[in-house]
Amino acid sequence: MTFKWIGYLPLIIIMCYIIWRLWFKKPDRKFKYISEDWRAILHHKVGYYAKLSPSEKLRFEKEILYFFDATSITGVDLEINDSDRLLVAASAVIPLFGFPELRYRNINEVLLYKDAFNNDNQTDGSNRHTLGKVGSGTMNRLMILSLPALHAGFEQKEDNSNVGIHEFVHLIDKADGVTDGIPESILQHRYVVPWLKAIHREIKSMKHGESDINPYGATSEVEFLSVASEYFFSRPELFKEKHPELYDLMAKMYHQRP
Ligand SMILES: [Zn+2]
Repeated sequence: MTFKWIGYLPLIIIMCYIIWRLWFKKPDRKFKYISEDWRAILHHKVGYYAKLSPSEKLRFEKEILYFFDATSITGVDLEINDSDRLLVAASAVIPLFGFPELRYRNINEVLLYKDAFNNDNQTDGSNRHTLGKVGSGTMNRLMILSLPALHAGFEQKEDNSNVGIHEFVHLIDKADGVTDGIPESILQHRYVVPWLKAIHREIKSMKHGESDINPYGATSEVEFLSVASEYFFSRPELFKEKHPELYDLMAKMYHQRP
């Protein structure tokens, strides 16, 4: 008797394909490519992107798509558009752009609020001074940003603030398990002591009113890292001129010289 398994070959192939689809194939990406409209928004609004070379722009766009795939962006009591989403993603991509192999593992969702909020995350009532925050406890893996502040951070302007970059730098700091202003997931060990010495010197100058870095950064090492990073990425030429030592250390930290 001849074993006629060969007749079942097409069926076996189909079965194998179904099993592969169900078990191994990654789900299709939500966004497959960056449209020309999106590219125009990035060009117009994100100075960092506009200055990249064509090949770096492609890599930046790929990282944006990856971020959209991994993170939900939700407007709370407001409709959000592509421009809002792209600015959130750009805030995430910029600080990690020097590390093509690294991505955020500690965030699932970004909530966009219509305004500044208070300690209870309310946009009504008094004491609404917060423009962004990284959640902890039950709000772990969540970030909240004020939408107007997010946009203001990317406008060409005299100040060096960028709340989106500020909050994503907190996530980078948090990635090694401790939020302490020393982002050990990206900062090489040999630079830790020079970094701490440099920030303590600068915090002293800030407290004496002798620094142009936002005084909020003098409240702790944690806030110093985020505040100085906003300046480093928003106005790198000025930061380099005014704070050459910090610029050099941060260029080593972030693997990039913006
Ligand atoms: Zn902060």
